Amino acid sequence: MWTNTTLVVASGNRGKLKEFSKLFGDFAVEVVSQAELGVASPEETGLSFIENALLKARHASAKTQLPSFADDSGLMIPALDGAPGLYSARYAGVNASDQDNMSLLLERMKHLSGDNRKGCYICALALIRHASDPDPLVVVGRWKGKIVDAPRGDKGFGYDPVFLPNNLDQTAAEIDPQIKNQLSHRGQAVVELRSLLR
Ligand code: IMP
Repeated sequence: MWTNTTLVVASGNRGKLKEFSKLFGDFAVEVVSQAELGVASPEETGLSFIENALLKARHASAKTQLPSFADDSGLMIPALDGAPGLYSARYAGVNASDQDNMSLLLERMKHLSGDNRKGCYICALALIRHASDPDPLVVVGRWKGKIVDAPRGDKGFGYDPVFLPNNLDQTAAEIDPQIKNQLSHRGQAVVELRSLLR
């Protein structure tokens, strides 16, 4: 099923396209982005990472008549009722920078300590064969840790400078990116999806 076919990545983000091309590198599929096929991103109206990943993949498949793949990810803080959650990329507003989002998170957590500083990165991946596929491949990766009081490190992106993974003494922005890729929510989801594809 997943050979000699074109697979659409439902993302306009060039970094993600590159990352996901590697994911499917040995499956004899040609990976193209939805942007290359003139498909715009749909509104992300789901209430969970899984729902948003699925709706993005379905939208791309409906528009292109091709199998599609999408991801949705973010940071979840249980003590903030799951925020920033689905809104991680725009926590401090639609045009917010990573810095703005991180500053707002630190501000909202400044009164929290101990277990209340726990957080978890989540990544959902969805792969569908056609727009009405009733049996999509869906996986979720989780990376648990806690939010430190002040940013540390300049690698990674997003909330990495304030995310201290469990069992490590460096933030996600201080560790080697290759190690981050192995440990992260995205890395774990990719491993699981690859094993399903085999
Ligand atoms: P998405 O592109 O809609 O999945 O948005 C993901 C958002 O969640 C990013 O803009 C970041 O704010 C946050 N995020 C997801 N994964 C990571 C990560 O690995 N490091 C840091 N931030 C992340």
